[in-house]
Amino acid sequence: MLRKSDFIARYGGDEFVLLLEDLTGHADLAQLLKKIEGTITTPILLSNDESVQVGASMGVVLYPFADTDQADQLLRWSDQALYEIKAHKADRENCWALFGEENFADQRNPAQVLLDNGALEVWYQPILDSRKGKIVGIEALARLRDENGTIWPPARFLPQLHGEDFSDLNKQVLTQALKDLSILDAQGWPLWVSVNLDPRSLSGSCITCLREILGESTVDASRVTLEILEGEDFLERQTALELLLEIKALGFRLALDDVGSAYSSLLRMKDLPIDEIKLDQGFVRTLELRPQDLHFLNAIQDLANGMQVDLVVEGVETEDILDAVTVMGSTLLQGYTIAKPMPFAELKAFLKHSVFPHRHRPISLLGLYATRLAQHEALKKTIIRSPRAVDYLTLADATVCPLHGDIHRLGQDNVNRLDHLHREYHRAIAVMDALLLASPSGADWSAVDQAVEAFEQAIVKTYFEEKSKKQQTS
Ligand SMILES: [Mg+2]
Repeated sequence: MLRKSDFIARYGGDEFVLLLEDLTGHADLAQLLKKIEGTITTPILLSNDESVQVGASMGVVLYPFADTDQADQLLRWSDQALYEIKAHKADRENCWALFGEENFADQRNPAQVLLDNGALEVWYQPILDSRKGKIVGIEALARLRDENGTIWPPARFLPQLHGEDFSDLNKQVLTQALKDLSILDAQGWPLWVSVNLDPRSLSGSCITCLREILGESTVDASRVTLEILEGEDFLERQTALELLLEIKALGFRLALDDVGSAYSSLLRMKDLPIDEIKLDQGFVRTLELRPQDLHFLNAIQDLANGMQVDLVVEGVETEDILDAVTVMGSTLLQGYTIAKPMPFAELKAFLKHSVFPHRHRPISLLGLYATRLAQHEALKKTIIRSPRAVDYLTLADATVCPLHGDIHRLGQDNVNRLDHLHREYHRAIAVMDALLLASPSGADWSAVDQAVEAFEQAIVKTYFEEKSKKQQTS
């Protein structure tokens, strides 16, 4: 009878508290309460063939409509509603009463009021082009500022928005973002902007709205990327593709947001008219704990290349991660270590003063790991395609490999072991190349795989050891 998101607790002898979340409206609530009533009042057949029936009275309080966020106050009010309905047992229509129902039948909740009253602020998170070493784009992020000056992030206000609110939100964010972009243009910052479109707002009327906003701006649509969440049901709908094509026809770029966060289909991705994929932060921000996930990043990068779409890597939260994804060849990067989301006024100062040195070689052990991974994948592809493209005698000499210098620079206490494993790896792959030259088919990669594995594990081990040393001294 309850949904997965609901919560039930026994509060007293015959008193229970239910926490029902994610309700979309009164009808939704009424349906759920009816179901609960139905279950409770179902007659129970006893062993002597007699049947008994119990009843219930329920007091309901709605958050965020009730003017408090204190749990005990909410409980007290639901208790008041409970006594109210108990007092009308003889003549009641439902077995529940809503606390303060008469007061908020048509009332807008606090987030809706803030949105209606122009409390929206657009904050921006810069996106770095690691190859150019400069900020090339920004993602526009919605915030609400309440009367106390507190900033509400989307996680706080989105659950309170419904229906038309989403279109209103998109409209306000996009309009503001385009205004800010032309201000930046005038100051010599020709950036592009990425705006999140809530899929709940996508309908025929949103096309008209997008066209209007564009008409009022001097910014070309090709500098605006509209991000759509990958996990949303929207993309399952038949009409989705048509709508996306219409948006594309207006000249906007389209990005699929948070790729990898839901059980979504890569197959579906190939049918969508997208220009960009944004890799979910979840993969990237945990790279320091799971360096192996860089293999996944490498694969996604190949996929993006193959599809000829841009890849933006989100969740670049530490210097080590920035190092690793940069040396692995990821170009467009976004995350805390580059910049946190900030108000427009701060963005201008940030653009003026930020410097991002160009990186050719890794500066951390995580970067060393990433370099090795990318280099091996590329080398393997090359010699499978054409073993003659590399000279195996040169390949056998690990000291001419750029990684040799990196190991001596970064290897710390394990430099000898890493150096040894690096040489073993080069020997194995040179042998492999020679074997492929002799007989292009039927080659056995297991010796190379073993050498790769041992080398990789030693880098990770050194990385973890160095990290724990640093943590102990700090
Ligand atoms: Mg986004």
